[in-house]
Formats: sequence, C-alpha cells, structure tokens
Amino acid sequence: MISVSSKITSGSIDVVDASDPADIRLALRKDPDGVFLGWYHFRVSGAAGQACRFSLTNASDVLSWRLANREDYDNAWQNTGAMASYDGDYWFRVPGTFDGTSFIFEHQPEHDLCFYAAWPPYGAEREHRYIAEAQTSPLVKLETIGESVEGRPIDMLTIGTPDTGKAKCWIIARQHASETQGGYFLEGIIDRLLDETDPTARALLASAVIYVVPNVNPDGSANGLTRANATGANLNREWDSPSLEKSPEVFHVSSKMEEIGLDFCIDCHADKELNCNFIWPSENVPSWKPERRDIFTRFEEAWAAASPDYELGHPYPGGCPAEANLGMGWNWIGNRFPHSLSVLLEQPFKDTTEFPTPETGWSPDRAYNFGRSFPEALRAVVGRLGTNAGQ
Ligand SMILES: [Zn+2]
Repeated sequence: MISVSSKITSGSIDVVDASDPADIRLALRKDPDGVFLGWYHFRVSGAAGQACRFSLTNASDVLSWRLANREDYDNAWQNTGAMASYDGDYWFRVPGTFDGTSFIFEHQPEHDLCFYAAWPPYGAEREHRYIAEAQTSPLVKLETIGESVEGRPIDMLTIGTPDTGKAKCWIIARQHASETQGGYFLEGIIDRLLDETDPTARALLASAVIYVVPNVNPDGSANGLTRANATGANLNREWDSPSLEKSPEVFHVSSKMEEIGLDFCIDCHADKELNCNFIWPSENVPSWKPERRDIFTRFEEAWAAASPDYELGHPYPGGCPAEANLGMGWNWIGNRFPHSLSVLLEQPFKDTTEFPTPETGWSPDRAYNFGRSFPEALRAVVGRLGTNAGQ
C-alpha cells in the first residue's frame, strides 16, 4: 500500500486522498496564525516504480499574502518544482506546474521510500549536532539566551575573543522556519571561522567577534511551520514590541543585542519568488546615515568578488518600502544601532539566473558554499565598523 505521512521532523502536509497514486491530493497546512502556509515536507512509501501525481490543492492560498509590487516576478509556484530525496541528504528537483489553484508535480520513485519538500529541510537533529560540535572549538562559547514559547532553548554562539576595539558582528537565521537555507549557509560561515589555518578567518577574528543565533524560531522549525512561531506571531514583525507571551524568541535575541552591543548584523531569510541572492541595507530607518551606504557598497562588492552566486546590483524586488517597518528585524536593528550596518539577506528557493544548476536548483551545498564566501565580504568592511568607524 502507498503511505503518505508528514509525521516526521519538520513535517507538514494534510492528506486529502492518497488512494490512487495517479491522483494523490494533498493540502498545505496553515500556521497557527491562520494565514501563512506554503511549507511542505512529507514521506511517501510503497510507490516505487509507480507513476505518482501529487496535487497541492490549496496552493493558490499562498498568493493571498504575496508581497506588494511583485507582479513582474514569477509567483512562488511558477518555474519551480518540489524537492525530492531518497536518503534525506541529496535532494533533486521534480518539475512542477501551477494551474492557478493547485501545484502539481509528477514523479516515479525509484525506491520504496521517498521524501518531498518545498526545499531541503534543516532538522533539529542536524542543528543540535552541528552546534554541539562547534562549541568544542576553543574559539567558541555557547550560551542559551532564552526559551521559545514551547520551551525550546535559543542558543547563541560567540566566536572569537571579545576585546575592546573589536567589531561586534551578529548573524541571525531562521526567524521564518521554512527558510531552511539559513541553516546550511551558517554551516558554511562557521566552518570557515573555526578553521584556524584559514587566513581570512584569522584576520577577521583579530578585529571582530561574531555572535551567531542559528535558529530564532525553533518551535516553527520543529512543528513544520512556514513563517510563524507557536503563538502564530510573525517574528519578523515583532521587533519593535516583542513580548514574553507572544514573541519571547525576539525578546531574548533583541535583549542580548542591547546587552552586548552591535556594529553589524545580517538577518538570514529566503524568498520563494527570487532568482538570486539578495541583500539590502536598512536605508529607510529614521536614524540612517548616508555614509552607511558606502560601507554597504564595499560589503556587497567584496561578496560578489568572493562568490559569483551573489548577483551584484539586483534591485529591491518590487521596490524598497519608503517607510521602514521597524517591526522587521533588520530595520529595528539598523535604527536602534545607528552606527551599525544592518543587512537583510534573501536566498532563493528556485535557482539563480546566473550560473544555475537545473538538476537541484538552489541547493544546500550551494547555500553552504555561499556561506563560505561571507567572511571575505565582512572582512572588507570590518575596519569601518564599531569603534573603528569613528562614530
Ligand atoms: Zn523570511
């Protein structure tokens, strides 16, 4: 018999009817807020050698919260596909089509068990194992800075030795749980920083301390949510007034930033409609200083030089809102720490236009390698951050 199940780590799908492999109908689950949906991750067994047709019957509901002014871009379901894997490690892309209501993909599994997902998951097991290993480095200190709504620990890694004059550089990821690209990207960064034979890492850590919060929304990750936390809050709209009841995750991270200080931050997200890696500075916050644009330009030029997977000069998709929403992490941070450079990162779900890899699209390995290129970009501006910035 064919079994379709999302009772797996970060699993999410509702089975409408899986009795006929040629017409497996599934529904995306909504987050606790009742609005956000789009993430799916499930396993199918007993279908080896059978031509399966999967329909996500409520895919069009995702478009109800599409960001403004994106009409010139493909929506989340166009020119993409489901990701599939037999071993949970190597993921390949199965082409899909969107008929205006359902997202449909067809696949004939070669093995008895096959996993499908919107993008390769980054599960708690991998995350905790990676963090546990990283903290054994003499360069790393681990601190649990608070707990999520459901009591999961929020960990922060301090990489390097704090000292007067060093820039305080923050990296936060996965406010939106389904944007798992951030997990692989962080592994790329941290692997380089902890390599004591890597000259860029050594030079960077001589003038900076890196504070990393690998997962701002561990409940969302564990529960297979798209964007919200366990209370249904979109954490990236909570930064101007986080509360212990509704958004303790942001409350704890922002409190720690206040306590330690901040000269640089990159907030790692992913966007279902983009075909590139995209970064932008918090240029429309009230405390923005024009000289920060020069630092940002130097930062992105260095990143483009280090990685052709950063497409230099891509405009803000749909236009950057003239009035910054201070509930968003990168804006709140940029406004609260006026001397700092606060950057938003969006990785793609689909593929990049430049140097695409059609078999996988944007993939964990590519996200990892993109992370490995980040230290060059940060090193290019670190001398102009913090106490060296002459503020
Ligand atoms: Zn996001």
